[in-house]
Amino acid sequence: MKKIIVISAPSGTGKSTLCEEIRRKKPQIKFSVSCTTRPKRDYEIEGVNYYFLTDDEFMEKVGNDEFVEYEEVHGYYYGTLKNILRDAIISEELMLFDVDVNGAMSIKKKYPKNTLTVFILPPSIEDLMIRLINRGTDSKEIINKRLERTNKEMKFKDKFDTFMINDDLSSAIEKLNEIITNQNKGVVYGS
Ligand code: ADP
Ligand code: 5GP
Repeated sequence: MKKIIVISAPSGTGKSTLCEEIRRKKPQIKFSVSCTTRPKRDYEIEGVNYYFLTDDEFMEKVGNDEFVEYEEVHGYYYGTLKNILRDAIISEELMLFDVDVNGAMSIKKKYPKNTLTVFILPPSIEDLMIRLINRGTDSKEIINKRLERTNKEMKFKDKFDTFMINDDLSSAIEKLNEIITNQNKGVVYGS
């Protein structure tokens, strides 16, 4: 059983929503709280969604070698803490990681035997755009920046152990739950 479950998706696909639902359904599954320099959204909670840091605080952690991986995404830094990943390895429970495609590849490379990588696709680019607009957290400029990165991210899809589409939310929650529970590699979870 792989204990590190790494989830990636283009921004707006719904991975935070899915991860939250999985956490609600299975409270025993832990979630890796990353550090970021991105401003906090109104509904986000410090220490639950992210540790929100200033650039200086983030760079201090880089200098102290506290990150197993970190990336610049959409103009901000995001990083996974080494101690959280170590906890996941020694823990009896599964741990979810919500990271970008580069972060997913780094974690898989470091812990190939313990890591299952899952890529989540939106039903279409139009749906993705609508989800980003409806989320109401980003300006038009930031939404465009997020959408521009989508093509590059989609190219990584086949490097993941499995992928699924987040079309109907409740079916997608079931699908992700099944992937995490059964860990069937090579199965395509389309909808
Ligand atoms: P991500 O973490 O991938 O950037 P979010 O989880 O923030 O994306 O979801 C983006 C928006 O899309 C949110 O407003 C969320 O409520 C909505 N959303 C998530 N999944 C679905 C779905 N299956 N159908 C419609 N809207 C969805
Ligand atoms: P958002 O700003 O929408 O929360 O996240 C933007 C992107 O950063 C998403 O693709 C998300 O998965 C990614 N991300 C979040 N935390 C980390 C992390 O610790 N490392 C990396 N590499 N990416 C992260």
